[in-house]
Order: sequence, then structure tokens, then C-alpha cells
Amino acid sequence: MSLKTGDYKRIDHPIPPLYDKDSRVLILGSFPSVKSRETAFFYGHPQNRFWKTLAGVLSADVPVTVGEKAAFLHENHVAVWDVIKSCDIIGSSDSSIRNVVPNDLSEILEGADIRRIYCNGGKSYEYYQRYIEDKTGIKAARLPSTSPANASYSLGRLMEEWRVICGPLKAAPAGIGQVLLAWYDYNARLLPWRSDPSPYHVWISEIMLQQTRVEAVLKYYDRWMSELPEIKDLAEVEEDRLLKLWEGLGYYNRARNLKAAALDVMERYDGVLPGDYQELLSLKGIGEYTAGAIASIAFGIPVPAVDGNGLRVFSRRLGEEGEIGRQAVKRSLAHEVFRAMPKDRPGDYNQALMDLGARVCLPKGQPLCRMCPWESVCQAHKQGRETEYPVKAGKKPRRVEKKTVFVIEVVPGGTGSEDSERKIALHKRPSAGLLPDLWEFPNVEGDFSSGQAEKLARRWGLSDYRIESAGKGKHVFSHIEWQMTGFIVSVRELPEGLLEEMGWVAVSPETAARDYAIPSAFEYLKRKMRLIKG
Ligand code: SF4
Repeated sequence: MSLKTGDYKRIDHPIPPLYDKDSRVLILGSFPSVKSRETAFFYGHPQNRFWKTLAGVLSADVPVTVGEKAAFLHENHVAVWDVIKSCDIIGSSDSSIRNVVPNDLSEILEGADIRRIYCNGGKSYEYYQRYIEDKTGIKAARLPSTSPANASYSLGRLMEEWRVICGPLKAAPAGIGQVLLAWYDYNARLLPWRSDPSPYHVWISEIMLQQTRVEAVLKYYDRWMSELPEIKDLAEVEEDRLLKLWEGLGYYNRARNLKAAALDVMERYDGVLPGDYQELLSLKGIGEYTAGAIASIAFGIPVPAVDGNGLRVFSRRLGEEGEIGRQAVKRSLAHEVFRAMPKDRPGDYNQALMDLGARVCLPKGQPLCRMCPWESVCQAHKQGRETEYPVKAGKKPRRVEKKTVFVIEVVPGGTGSEDSERKIALHKRPSAGLLPDLWEFPNVEGDFSSGQAEKLARRWGLSDYRIESAGKGKHVFSHIEWQMTGFIVSVRELPEGLLEEMGWVAVSPETAARDYAIPSAFEYLKRKMRLIKG
């Protein structure tokens, strides 16, 4: 914006100083912004971080109304005023200020017990030194500006620098946990389980969130809660339905464990999850992380809930050189997480750590340190080695398994016949091993050519069929990689006894999509057969 002489206005400071006889620290700004002049109170611009910074540093709630702000300053013995009494100014622009008449601070210095003067930003400090220091005989200290124009400072970094005011106030400065909570109060993600953090809601959401992104979990969570809103509903649900509700989330044993634990809760705890960390741990599928999350978020019990996000953030913050897979390293990091926890808000703290890891201290690529509340206390950041932590041991290569997958489509009237007559063959996987009891398209080991596929079709006794390539697909599990070659086999009818002999069922595509849990490993074929949309 170019400043024009005609835009200047002569303005007298419209707000009286705020102090009382117990004020110990005086914070001086330069001159009130347009917004502050309108509201007739200090730091009225919603983007100015003065109130958040001060509240964070003093471990207090952020005041909102003018009355709350005044009471907050009095309670914490902070006096506030500005260095300029009147000036020519354009809007709120500090850089346009000219013809300055400084304020007389003697009223405050005589009426209060000021031990230290701080200037909020460079302009205020400059004017204090030029016009006021000689009169008061007191040297002021310069603090980074809380103005939105000072964008290079994150809220966390501001709080770190502003902590010095706690000395003369004789207040305990906020620890790193409180700094994180102050960040969380303004940056928490709005999630359905957070608006009603009942033990059941927290439990289900945390299990779903293991290995799955929040955005992907939202639709599963909503569907689950509308169908199984209470623990007793989960205890009673049929396994097939349970797996269908879980379809796509992977690691299907988590769903089975949920049901087993729900039955246990019905039997041992009358349908109510216990508010005790050890008892939560005794339930199937609930490990230390989930027990910590339920205990802290739903019951307010101060225990850590340290997942991969928390470990990553703390390993970077502390510059932990130990290998992250080692139990001793994990335990020591979890101990540090717990030490930094403000014990009056354990659930918020644990969630703040999750959010920080998911949105700022990113697992892949460069973390967003400029937005991080711990920027100034992070060892990895100070050394410019953020991406070197956490330290990981070399990973074992995944085992590659090649498969040929057959989508066998029975079309009684041949191509062009009614869609409602179509059926596809599915096979139930064994009850042990990978993806137990889930449904799959018939498949065999190996990467078949079309000639080999034809040969197998004939061996199954198929006749009058058409076979076409369905392309290649890949699915990566934690330790195995499936490389799949797909074929679509269209046939008018299956030979008698083949379904029974092979352990297949033939169902309509609608039934398959609605009632049969087919894991996402087969996603590319499910899409091809329109068993899922998109
Ligand atoms: S400063 Fe950067 S590396 Fe350190 S905790 Fe924050 S985001 Fe992570």
C-alpha cells in the first residue's frame, strides 16, 4: 500500500493506561490500531497475538471481552500502555507514524510497583529509547511484536520469548506442555469424537485411526456409530456385518477384537468401559496407546498416549539419537511426553501431540517448523536436522507374492443380458493367516499368462466362456507385497459341483458390495467390477 500525505490524520491516544498499585510489569506498544481505537481497548485486532501470547505464558485462559482482558491484566499484575500520546498516522500503519508526542509514564511509575518495562515490538522500543528513556531513567527490554505483521514468529516462538515477563511477575512460566496446549486451543481439528468424547467414541475412533488417516476414518466412524451406537450393539453384531462395517480399514483383527472386548465389557463391567488404565489394558485389542487415549481423553486421567506421531515429535524435539524401534528408546520418550504433560488437561495434551505430529511435524518431507509451537525448543530444528529423526534401523525388504486373480462373472443370458442376472464368484479366505475369513476373488499363486489362465479355466471345466485381461494391481501390507495379474472370465453357467468343490459362492454384485467384506487389497478389481464407486 503506498502512503499518501492526504491520508494522514492527527490522532490523540484515546485509551487511558491500565494499571493498579500492584502492577509489576509495564508493557508498552507504539500506538493503538484502528481496531483498538474503535473498541477503545488495547490490542483489539483479532489477528494480534498479544492476548494469546500473554495467556499462554501465564497459563491462563485467553480473555475475550474487554472486561475479561482488563481483569486478566489486573489479576496478573500487568500494566499496559503505549509510548505515543499523539501522532500523525495513516490507519494502523506503524511505519507511517510521524510528528510524535510521547506519553508521560510518571503517572504509572508513581502509582504502581513497576519492576520492569517491556516494549512490544521494534517501533515501540525505538520510540521509548528516543523520547522516554531519559525521563524515566529505566532501560526497557524489547520483545518480538505480537502484531500479525510479524509473521516470522509463530505463537510458540512468541511465547518462548515473552516468558521473560514471568521473572518480575514472580509467576511460574508455562512449560512446553502449556505452550502446546495454547497452540491446540486455536488449532485443534474439529472431529466428531471430540465433540462428544465418551469412552466408547474415543475407543472406536482410536482403533480406526491406527494406520488410517483422519479424513478416511470420518465416513467409517459415522456409519459405525449410526449402526452400532452403544457397546451392547457392538457386542451383539454378527461377524459378517462387523467385517463389512470395517471393510477398507484393513487389519480386520482390530474389528474382531473390538467385538470381543465389547462382550467382555458387557460381562465384567455391565456395559460401561472402566475408567481405569490397567483395567482398560486388560481388554482385548487395547494396548498402552489406546488405554492411554481413552483414560486421558474420556476420563481425564493423566497418563500418556504416545503413538508414532508423539514419538516422532519428541524424538525431534529432544534430538534423540537412539533407534526408535528399541523399547528402551520408546519408553524414555514416553517418559518425556509424560513429564511435559500439564496434569490438569491430559486428554487435550495427548490430542495436541497427535495433531502436531499429523499436521506440523510431518512424517514425510520437511516438517512445518515455522508453524510449530516448539520451534524454539526443538533440538532437531536448531541443528537443521529435522528429517534425520526419528532414527530408524534399516528395514527388511518386503516379501513379494505374485498372484493371478480371476473375477469369474456368470452371465446367464450372455453379454447384454439384464444386470440383475449377473453373479460373481467369491471365495472365503481361511480362518488363519493373512486377512482371515474375509472374501476374495478366486486366485492362484504365480503370474499367469493369458494362455495359462485359459488352461486353468478349462481345468475348472468352464466352457463357452470369454476371458480378458483385467490388468495388474499391487497391494502393500506391512511385510508382504502382493503383485496381482487379473483376468475377467465371463461364462454363461458354472459346471455343476464347481462351487462346492472350490468353496466358492456366486452372488450378485449388489449383494457382494453390501454383505461381503472384500479387503482393499482387491480394490482395483472391485472398482473394475463396480463393487465400489469411483
Ligand atoms: S520444530 Fe519442527 S521438527 Fe521440531 S517439533 Fe516442531 S515441527 Fe517438529
